[in-house]
Amino acid sequence: MKKQKLIFATNNAHKLDEVKNVEGINFEILSLKDIGFEGEIPEDFETLKDNALQKAHYIHDKYKVNCFADDTGLEIDALDGRPGVLSARYAGPQCNPEDNIKKVFQELKGKIIRKGRFRTVIALILDNEEYLFEGVVQGEILSEKRGRDGFGYDPIFLPACFTHTFAEMDLSLKNKISHRAKATGKLIEFLQKR
Ligand code: IMP
Repeated sequence: MKKQKLIFATNNAHKLDEVKNVEGINFEILSLKDIGFEGEIPEDFETLKDNALQKAHYIHDKYKVNCFADDTGLEIDALDGRPGVLSARYAGPQCNPEDNIKKVFQELKGKIIRKGRFRTVIALILDNEEYLFEGVVQGEILSEKRGRDGFGYDPIFLPACFTHTFAEMDLSLKNKISHRAKATGKLIEFLQKR
């Protein structure tokens, strides 16, 4: 049977790999590049859920295809949930991950309770219905960086019950326990039943 096409509204090759080769789903997962989309998808909202829905709807409406999109943020309790939806550009529009980490360190100076979590929300539009899948990994924000691997806030995030930060951890382990892995796992489970 011919597989139905499902667009993942991303050009991030790593994210795509996580879902593209999963067995047992009756969908052919395509990226934005695969469908010839170039440019930026707007992300104007103040929650991960609304941004994920906006991205999925943007591509769905433009190409009339089934589609999903994700949005992720690091939520720190002592900062009232920031950087949250602003995680990518917390220190400003032109900033890099290093700047973002510096800003978090500054804001957390003197704070003893440093609990936080990564949260990923995936919005799927399938046959004109919306579905949401969420993955969370709890942890702690360190006061100095540890590890060279990973990206973003990985060197300052120590997942609960582990002794290695995301940047010190084997990627295969991170990909088993991460926020994104959990949300993706729920999406895949759903798609396997369709
Ligand atoms: P996105 O929605 O997946 O693009 O993630 C938004 C931002 O959250 C990224 O630019 C990173 O700063 C941060 N982020 C997302 N996932 C991770 C992760 O697994 N480790 C570290 N930082 C992450």
